[in-house]
Amino acid sequence: MSEKTAILAIDQGTTSSRAIVFSLTGEIVALAQREITQIYPKPGWVEHDPEEIWDSVCAVISEALGAAREDGWNVVAAGITNQRETSIVWERSSGLAIHNAIVWQDRRTANVCAALAADGHEEMISARTGLVLDPYFSASKVSWILDEVPGARGQAEAGELAFGTVESFLLFRLSGGAVHYSDATNASRTSLFDIHRGSWDEELLALFRVPAAVLPSVCPNAGKFALIAPDLPGAGLPITGMAGDQQAAAIGQACFAPGQMKCTFGTGAFLLANTGNKAVRSQHRLLTTIAWQLEGVRSFALEGSILSAGSTIQWLRDGLGLVSDAAESEAMAKGLEDNGGVYMVPAFAGLGAPWWDAEARGAIVGLTRGCGAAHITRAGLEAVAYQCHDLMRAMAADGVAPKLFKVDGGMSGNAWLMQFLADIVAVPVARPQITETTAFGVAVLAGIGAGHYSSLADVAELWREDAKFSPAMAEGLREDLLEGWREALERVRSNTN
Ligand code: ADP
Repeated sequence: MSEKTAILAIDQGTTSSRAIVFSLTGEIVALAQREITQIYPKPGWVEHDPEEIWDSVCAVISEALGAAREDGWNVVAAGITNQRETSIVWERSSGLAIHNAIVWQDRRTANVCAALAADGHEEMISARTGLVLDPYFSASKVSWILDEVPGARGQAEAGELAFGTVESFLLFRLSGGAVHYSDATNASRTSLFDIHRGSWDEELLALFRVPAAVLPSVCPNAGKFALIAPDLPGAGLPITGMAGDQQAAAIGQACFAPGQMKCTFGTGAFLLANTGNKAVRSQHRLLTTIAWQLEGVRSFALEGSILSAGSTIQWLRDGLGLVSDAAESEAMAKGLEDNGGVYMVPAFAGLGAPWWDAEARGAIVGLTRGCGAAHITRAGLEAVAYQCHDLMRAMAADGVAPKLFKVDGGMSGNAWLMQFLADIVAVPVARPQITETTAFGVAVLAGIGAGHYSSLADVAELWREDAKFSPAMAEGLREDLLEGWREALERVRSNTN
């Protein structure tokens, strides 16, 4: 084996498709990225064009592989990580989608979920899937496509159509239509999969009216899934790893033991805490999810999602024009002695875990005449830390109390926020040297599948700290701030879950 052995990670995200080639020790050898178009047909609806997803993925594979090979790297395997829950239905014979992808943020099936809840099905759904009953997950989206596209339901029953989340669609296409798999982490986000038995669930399929004939086979997160078809970029490369983006990030952050957790701060923020072989059932509306499945063993995680994190800063920049770029928020927040009693609840799209309040809308409270742009900016940053606190508190109440808060994603570059976060969650915050944790995580899985790493433990020492932030705030001040946040939150909530 040459010393310059590398692995290709394909990261199909909500806003862009990326391909990153990693050396076996985690160095980035090549990177390519293409933005993808967000389609908003109606308020609350979000779609992607599957052909644009496909074209962008082919383009980035071609570009990143080309650059890596030019530098003499021997790329031996590929992995796929993806925006989760986003649902695609395609024709098995042609590989063509019958409708745009319905993106995870899409709320069009809220009424379907409300009706199922009113009929008393939430408890059963949640017991089996680990999820809450919400349009966020794939099941109701698939059913919507089958209802709305003329003739689709009949074709689905007849076995002519395939459903998959984005990794499944990409694997099908990249393999030249040879395989229709979904990995266990992505399957665990559909609301059709029993995470305890590790199989699709007939009662859930009936409840959401999804014919079993459309489903992919569920595979582990590492294995020899397929070879890239001869006429495609990366032809002949074995695809040996797949995982949903947040699970991949948890692997990239080396959260391998129970109690280890990470939070990825992008558009939203996603906190995952490893719970080992135990699927902890949350009593506080956190999600129980498959962290990975390897060698026949499933590991689980508790997950909390914050819907608006980086997007709040984007809004300060693009909506209000208070900052000219996201990084400027740091100096503005730091320049103030305190928050001046100003709190922002960024419930632009409702509130995620642990509130799951779809009707809540945002607010800025506590304004006085002395407030300026810096106060509002700081309130937007502080809100991220408060929401993390609420998730950590819910986790602690479920018996999971991480001792280290590992961070990654765009916002983790904001040192002021990371210190404030450590102060508010009262746990040290650590940022790794490898910040491309999602892509690196799936590269690790692909490396395991291709036999270049023997297990996850093999890569644990590749996690190295870049910066650490230790809690330093006086307890009285922390309590006052949290009290201010709670009061602001109460003003916007529409439910009392
Ligand atoms: P995604 O993959 O979801 O697009 P990224 O991980 O690239 O997100 O993170 C980008 C987000 O982080 C943007 O929403 C941006 O507003 C925010 N962001 C980036 N840098 C900073 C910073 N220094 N301070 C605050 N927010 C930041």
